[in-house]
Amino acid sequence: MNKFEQLGLNAALLQAIGDMGFETPSEVQEKAIPVLLEQETDLVALAQTGTGKTAAFGFPLLQKIDVEDRSTQALILSPTRELCLQITNELKQYSKYIKGLHVVAVYGGASITEQAREVKRGAQVIVATPGRMQDMINRGFVNIKNIAYCILDEADEMLNMGFYDDICAILSDTPDDKSTWLFSATMPAEVARIAKKFMADPVEITVGAKNSGTATVSHEFYVVNARDRYEALKRLADANPDIFSVIFCRTKRDTQAVAEKLIEDGYNAAALHGDLSQAQRDSVMKSFRGRQIQMLVATDVAARGIDVDNVTHVINYQLPDEIETYNHRSGRTGRAGKLGTSIVIITKSEVRKIHTIEKIIKQKFEEKAIPSGIEICEIQLLHLANKIHDTEIDHEIDNYLPAIYQVFENLSKEDLIRKMVSVEFNRFLNYYKKKKDLSSERSSERTSGGSIKAGDAVRYFINIGTRDDFDWMKLKDFLREALDLGRDDVFKVDVKEGFSFFNTDGEHAERVMDIFSNFQLEGRKINVEISKNDNGGRKSGRGDFGGKRERRDRFADHSERRSERRSEGRFEPRGERRSVGEARPLGRRSDASRDRQPANKAFEAAKRRRKS
Ligand code: ADP
Ligand code: MG
Repeated sequence: MNKFEQLGLNAALLQAIGDMGFETPSEVQEKAIPVLLEQETDLVALAQTGTGKTAAFGFPLLQKIDVEDRSTQALILSPTRELCLQITNELKQYSKYIKGLHVVAVYGGASITEQAREVKRGAQVIVATPGRMQDMINRGFVNIKNIAYCILDEADEMLNMGFYDDICAILSDTPDDKSTWLFSATMPAEVARIAKKFMADPVEITVGAKNSGTATVSHEFYVVNARDRYEALKRLADANPDIFSVIFCRTKRDTQAVAEKLIEDGYNAAALHGDLSQAQRDSVMKSFRGRQIQMLVATDVAARGIDVDNVTHVINYQLPDEIETYNHRSGRTGRAGKLGTSIVIITKSEVRKIHTIEKIIKQKFEEKAIPSGIEICEIQLLHLANKIHDTEIDHEIDNYLPAIYQVFENLSKEDLIRKMVSVEFNRFLNYYKKKKDLSSERSSERTSGGSIKAGDAVRYFINIGTRDDFDWMKLKDFLREALDLGRDDVFKVDVKEGFSFFNTDGEHAERVMDIFSNFQLEGRKINVEISKNDNGGRKSGRGDFGGKRERRDRFADHSERRSERRSEGRFEPRGERRSVGEARPLGRRSDASRDRQPANKAFEAAKRRRKS
């Protein structure tokens, strides 16, 4: 009898499990499934990410759903859209042989009426994010008054994200006699509070020691200018020739871009994020496990299930928005008693976040300097020497040696060694000779935002407008997504025909310039310039409507008028403006001809593309 069968799962599920290639249940599945199948009970299960919690609740839930009844019987709440879709997809796979079972995903950012329609067609299981679910309830699009099961997945994450009130409101709309199952990686006070408030005498399951990774992980941070982030990453990789690492970025776009740059620069790297198909992700993970990939660049959500042995470094290319996520990230290394290092690359303005993290993880960070080119050469040379020293000899080579000996006939042992290691040395030396010391810039006050301080509003020019089908709402959404900023962080969005303006707080200026220093929209280079420091602008009108009303005043500003003229199509690039391409120290991106393509040409090209 198959191990899953022993847990009491029925034939339809077993067949799907077979298709998915699951052979043995994970610990949390082994512990939770029989309990949930046999009893109508509340349950709290604590298990680290990637331990198979979805199936631990998914299998028993699907088996318990009455498919003859088309009403909503179960609600699963999960923190993010990605996880919501991931759970939905998993459940669909699990239930592919259960006829008449419907699972519907309900999440923000997609049409609510379409989701309402799907629910209406009959969805026994709804997987939802709390915010959208509240919306659906308020509009009478769902009825959860008679559900039998409510599952809180990644409960700690949901509460971290501030969904406490939403969860309480949603749960108060469900019947008292339902069963509530709570799954979480950790059990902070808020999770305990939810459990206490909404659960009756729950069965408790804990898998693995909590925070088992921490004792074996050391934490380091490196302070660099935002524009040097990528260069810093490369140096860290070069300074650790045997690196086997997971690199975390905040957005899918950054993840993809960093991976692509690394690959271009000759590293064994790959991206892992939600825009890849399952097959692509599986193939990336397979290569990573097989160590053909040394640097896996991933988003938090995509890396959630990652449990790979012997990861040497976790690199936070950007800090996560939620500081608590840091724990999930650093837990990818230092597993199974091995030692690991968790590295954070940050800008000066983020240093205080390190102190916050130190408090949460109850461990100290060590501040380190990005290795200099010389140090890297040294490390690489020693690595090469050791590698040569330790290389095992396959005697097949003997056949080729006579010819080789002949080539080296006139060299002494010392000269031979010198030449051999020079092969590698020259490569690094040539690369690093002209590079400046990244860490020495720590003392410098200059950032790509000049003397911009947090608290000052900064106004930007961007070369897209109504001609590119943007109105202020669309542009604001686009900016927020591209910059990965919060609801109120982009303001005073003012869209004109060929270009637009927007504001952020000074603390985001570096990031804005950094992200838009190399940003393509449908193949076209997006150009963002700092228009001016808009001191106090935020206070005088945060919303976009406010911004619109003020437009007249701001029109008097010279820099805007200059830009306005420029958009007419007669713009010549000028040295004085803060062109992102110029500010960039790294070779590849300063391709002046591309960066300085006159705006009108770009527009013409964009228009042609749209027409065709
Ligand atoms: P968690 O929610 O605990 O973070 P998931 O439920 O997302 O973990 O599972 C992580 C990955 O492990 C998923 O890709 C899932 O398909 C896979 N998985 C789950 N259970 C098993 C199993 N018993 N055998 C093999 N793979 C499994
Ligand atoms: Mg999960």
